[in-house]
Amino acid sequence: MPQAIDHYIHGQAVANSSGRTQDVTNPATGKVTGRVGLAGADQVAAAVAAAQAAFPAWADTPPIRRARVMFKFLELLNQHRDELAHLITAEHGKVFTDAQGEVTRGIDIVEFACGIPQLLKGDYTEQVSTGIDNWTLRQPLGVVAGITPFNFPVMVPMWMFPVAIAAGNTFVLKPSPTDPSPSLRIAELLKEAGLPDGVFNVVQGDKVAVDALLEHPDVKAISFVGSTPIANYIYETGARHGKRVQALGGAKNHMVVMPDADIDQAVDALIGAGYGSAGERCMAISVAVLVGDVADKLLPKLIERTKTLKVLDGENLAAEMGPIVTRAAHERISGYIALGEQEGAKLLVDGRGFKGAEAGQGCDDGFWLGGTLFDHVTPEMRIYKEEIFGPVLGCVRVKDLKEAVDLINAHEFGNGVACFTRDGNVAREFSRRIQVGMVGINVPIPVPMAWHGFGGWKRSLFGDMHAYGEEGVRFYTKQKSIMQRWPESIGKGAEFVMPTAK
Ligand code: NAD
Repeated sequence: MPQAIDHYIHGQAVANSSGRTQDVTNPATGKVTGRVGLAGADQVAAAVAAAQAAFPAWADTPPIRRARVMFKFLELLNQHRDELAHLITAEHGKVFTDAQGEVTRGIDIVEFACGIPQLLKGDYTEQVSTGIDNWTLRQPLGVVAGITPFNFPVMVPMWMFPVAIAAGNTFVLKPSPTDPSPSLRIAELLKEAGLPDGVFNVVQGDKVAVDALLEHPDVKAISFVGSTPIANYIYETGARHGKRVQALGGAKNHMVVMPDADIDQAVDALIGAGYGSAGERCMAISVAVLVGDVADKLLPKLIERTKTLKVLDGENLAAEMGPIVTRAAHERISGYIALGEQEGAKLLVDGRGFKGAEAGQGCDDGFWLGGTLFDHVTPEMRIYKEEIFGPVLGCVRVKDLKEAVDLINAHEFGNGVACFTRDGNVAREFSRRIQVGMVGINVPIPVPMAWHGFGGWKRSLFGDMHAYGEEGVRFYTKQKSIMQRWPESIGKGAEFVMPTAK
């Protein structure tokens, strides 16, 4: 029997009451393993009410005590890392070691959040005018919500709630219904760490739950990560309802290979960044930009490696790539491969022939696709312009660095980019001129560390603040300035002129 996967409100599991559910599938076997409840507006309201009730006491808790809860949570995460990674593999399909990496990158943010007393320190100026001091401090917002995508069911929520909670807010998480189970385990671990009930809540659901969060007057801020059309919608709707919004969207990440690059390193990078997690990463490389004569040197090796990728059940430790997340995603990606052929790109490796039997026992009904490689992709093609979000790598040939930079800068997305070269000046010029938020030089997936913050440019991010890092702290707090003077200067009568330093 598929297991019911429901909500977590005010420190306890809560059964779904809407009567609506969605199947949760193991992508490697194609079997339905769970039924996730899709919350109605009333259950969203119950979660927000629990978070609102918990807010005053939590906001008043000294930051160092909030940090101690985070330290305990960190300890529990380290103990339960593999358990969380297995939950990810079971519902997402990514290979187990990659899932472990995902949990570790989430843990990085919890470590950062443990430093919240230092991060919340304000600025102080003594004697801004005679007898007057002025300082600034940052206070939490209230109830904040996170709406997250399927592709990182542990890491992306952890871009948000550790910083939000440590800063004194209370949180409602609305995870993706595709892989909802890790969120409930996280809620239990937070409770075990000593987090008061109501500070962290989970509502499972779809657009109905999202809209209820967007419209709820007690939700002060929304952090969203997902596809660009939904990010745009969240940003506009949230702003219309008076909320602070950061909405991270989709991507089309290019990797430029210069003629002087180490070809073997570039091939390794393209294989890992193009096909790792079946290309279902917002920082996956989906376009290789091959400069000058590099295509002739690189492509024979890339074709060979793409054909020999080990596509297996993610629980098999030999797997390099697992299945596609859902049958619908499999159909969408297969459709893009057919489209690429129609558009005139040269299909060098076609992943559509891959059979479940090749992936391991019991996998016949899984959502299998091999790595796919196109050459002679051009900027007018839809397979170049649109996010495919699967194991499909397209190669575009350009004559020089300038053409590569112009190509990338003209794309609607600007999440991540990489340049492989051995020339320091090329690396420097590339980093300066590229219109992309996260840049890797000989680093294919430059996901910034916890204290630097994550965010793309252009239609990859709506809003001003990147996720986590100091921008995350700023997003989840509002600044207050206090100016103060004491009795000696009082009693001079009313002042009608704009105060200036005396
Ligand atoms: P998605 O946009 O379909 O869903 C994201 C969230 O929005 C989910 O919680 C989903 O339930 C909700 N949602 C879906 N449709 C909605 C609607 N019509 N109205 C309101 N809410 C809705 O994204 P996904 O398929 O889960 O994830 C993949 C996408 O996320 C890719 O586009 C990927 O690039 C992007 N992504 C971006 C980043 C980043 O940092 N920029 C990180 C990870 C994933």
